[in-house]
Amino acid sequence: MHRTAAIISQGDEIVIGQTLDTNSRWIASRLLDVGIVPVEHVSLPDDRPAIAAAFTRLAARVDLILCSGGLGPTADDLTRFALADALNDTLLEDGDALAQITAWFAARGRPMNELNTIQAQRPSRATMLANAFGTAPGIHARLGKCDVFCLPGPPRELQPMFDRFVAPLLRPDQTRTVRVRVLHTIGLGESEIALRLHRSPGGDLMARDRIPLIGTTASNSVVSCRIRYEGPLTPAEAEALIARDEATIRSLVGEAIFGSDDDSLASVIVRTLRERSQSLTTIESCTGGLLASQITDFPGASDVFRTGWVTYANETKLREVGVPASLFHEAGRRNAPGAVSSEVALAMAQGGLREAGADFALAITGVAGPSGGTPEKPVGTVFAALASRSHPPDVRRFEFTGDRSAIREWSARAALAMLWLTLSDRREVRLLRQLS
Ligand code: AMP
Ligand code: MG
Repeated sequence: MHRTAAIISQGDEIVIGQTLDTNSRWIASRLLDVGIVPVEHVSLPDDRPAIAAAFTRLAARVDLILCSGGLGPTADDLTRFALADALNDTLLEDGDALAQITAWFAARGRPMNELNTIQAQRPSRATMLANAFGTAPGIHARLGKCDVFCLPGPPRELQPMFDRFVAPLLRPDQTRTVRVRVLHTIGLGESEIALRLHRSPGGDLMARDRIPLIGTTASNSVVSCRIRYEGPLTPAEAEALIARDEATIRSLVGEAIFGSDDDSLASVIVRTLRERSQSLTTIESCTGGLLASQITDFPGASDVFRTGWVTYANETKLREVGVPASLFHEAGRRNAPGAVSSEVALAMAQGGLREAGADFALAITGVAGPSGGTPEKPVGTVFAALASRSHPPDVRRFEFTGDRSAIREWSARAALAMLWLTLSDRREVRLLRQLS
């Protein structure tokens, strides 16, 4: 039975931070979906004794180990050797795996060299997991009472292999249920939300010994409440408990909730505009298309988003969306508001609205840094404007902190939040880091 799991991500590139470990996050959520609880994540360099020691240590602690990476053909791919060490076993060449690898190269008309045959090796007591998406097969072994699955690092190989070969072999404890619901909010600070949950009339919702367990996390201006049940109840009973807590949370902070679970501001906005048959356009300066990109991340975006602009230079703001030249500092107009101003943000939004014939237009102009700041408008100063056919314009000034990419992320999020507040009739709400 697999009650608990550990996840190993393997490779120098992970440990030094060159590659972000997205595999562990993906695997953890897949395991949790079926009720297996990940209790430890380990990242290791290409170091055979260290990997072998981790296998040995974790096999004594958990029922299941999932390891990604290190199955390639080169000298720094050491997972199979480390697994053999931990098993006190020797490697042999797997005939079926060799045939598969040979066929993979033949089908692509590519030469195969002797290094690739290493990928057909496995500990003698292990089995191979075929890989239809690359050359490295996975490996499955039992280390004591623990099931160990080793999968190749590239996510586009790992994910289908997990679904096809690992998922059917998982044995979650059928008497235990794990259920999670996440509610996403905008417009209230994390401490304000926590305070309301603490002071819930029915008792402290955030008590650490409470069942289900309730916690909050903040990411930019979005604060999420997570309700998590883990225990012996049936799935239906767990769902009922979670539904009860969800209702309580909605009664306490409901006005700020915009979505749940996999929803994001952008996806909820696209869905809402679609339902209302309304359209949106974007006019971006410092975000360089990030906002448009976030909106078009969702299938169905074409129903609400037809066009957008990246008007990075003053001249483009003028020519493409008709921002009046008089608003810019050029030609000796020292007292003009300048490219980073509420006037220009508003003119961009109104010009885009007109040109695109859309129902809503979101515009962003700001100083993403690291240079370009002034005492009046330091790096992180961002103006976002919303123009629409149905509402008066909304322009806000923000002062964000962080590096260039953080400021751009905050900016796109803030613009989406402004549109959401209008769509949900909560325009009076002030956003985090909003100055005016
Ligand atoms: P490997 O199986 O060690 O040959 O992994 C090859 C490639 O997979 C690496 O260059 C990364 O691009 C990718 N990769 C490996 N581990 C991870 C991980 N934990 N998360 C995301 N990508 C990974
Ligand atoms: Mg590697």
